Amino acid sequence: MSVSSPLTSKFDPTRISADSVHGFGPETFVTLPPTVQHLARGLPVEFHCHGIGSADFSDLGRLSLSAVEEAAAREGIRCVPTLYLPFSRFEAFLAMMQRFSERRADGLHENIVGFAVEGPMLGSFGGTPEDGVWLPTRREWLQLAECGPLGLRYVVISPDALLPDSPLAAAKTLEHPELEWIVRTLLEHGVRPALGHFLKTSPEASAECVQRTVESAREAGARPFSGDVTTDHLFNDMPLRFVHAWRTRQDRERRQVELAAADLASWSIDTVLEQCGPVPGTIMREAHLGGLVACLNFDGEHVDIEVAKRAAELIGSRSVIAMTDRTDRPFLGSQALSRRADNSLYYQAKGIVAAGSRDIDAQIDNMRHCGISEADIWTMVMATPSRVLGLPQCDAPQTYLTCVGTDGKRYFRSGDEWATPCRETFGSTT
Ligand SMILES: [Zn+2]
Repeated sequence: MSVSSPLTSKFDPTRISADSVHGFGPETFVTLPPTVQHLARGLPVEFHCHGIGSADFSDLGRLSLSAVEEAAAREGIRCVPTLYLPFSRFEAFLAMMQRFSERRADGLHENIVGFAVEGPMLGSFGGTPEDGVWLPTRREWLQLAECGPLGLRYVVISPDALLPDSPLAAAKTLEHPELEWIVRTLLEHGVRPALGHFLKTSPEASAECVQRTVESAREAGARPFSGDVTTDHLFNDMPLRFVHAWRTRQDRERRQVELAAADLASWSIDTVLEQCGPVPGTIMREAHLGGLVACLNFDGEHVDIEVAKRAAELIGSRSVIAMTDRTDRPFLGSQALSRRADNSLYYQAKGIVAAGSRDIDAQIDNMRHCGISEADIWTMVMATPSRVLGLPQCDAPQTYLTCVGTDGKRYFRSGDEWATPCRETFGSTT
């Protein structure tokens, strides 16, 4: 996995004090090449990720925490494994969180920095396996919230899931709490609500639910720019007033015309509500103002890269997290996925996009190629998610450093050496 100082073997090694660059203790010295393009403290964060290598995080029966930890360490990333939660696996999930917490206390997890669940309270299935959508009772919400101290970082919820148009509305009884109670209870235990999977029937009412969530979080003590409220993918699985992605060869024939119609250059934080639609507009405006942190996919396929770039510009990188929604195997729990010839996405049986396959480095490349500045890239892939998760950038004795060489590759500190990301691909090891 490690290569012996790949940069210094190529360039003149220079011994410099990292303190002068990034605030480490004066005794900390690292060997750096003089021609490093970019150096930063920390590791990129895969904030929303469904699988790495052979691991499908939703397959709790086969999930090996040590194997995922090793895979994340080899890739030089920090990872928040994100899984779907069928009711039948609720108890197994609670047990897994307990196990993770004990292992973390034993110092076995530096690269898995917590878990997330996508669902179960979703108003729109999107690519979610259907058994991963259900309505928790007050007691079950409390059980989920109590996973906060064990390492549960966020829960994807549809804030509009209790509106009359929602498929879950009919299941609601007195045992099922209101949105405000859910938001407050999660936050009291350190679990963030992440908003996504919106209804498409009443955009204004759904946007109002986003606003209610942000207000509830404020009342519960959320500070501006804390990221106590986050989102699932901005623009995906929500009602839009413009075309945001062109995924097939046929679609791409219309890209130029439809992209021109979206008129990205004219977007402003004051007009996105009107131009993009009430739900994405409210998310972008609140993210810009610090009421939430938005997650956005830069694989170019969930959302067109020019659309993603413009949204990030308007919001500001300190309120954007680059998410991959990645998995490396064609499964999400019980659901088998398939690929198409003309893109890199994974689809479920009904033809809905279920996950991506591009990792964080592929997204960094995309961001760079479309002209996003190096500073903004590293803010969105590392600084913002690290801030939101409260991650230390230096865990004694490990100091996390990432740099981009003049060869355009990413290097990270692994022990005393510089290493490049090493990935296990499905069915083979590279
Ligand atoms: Zn996902």
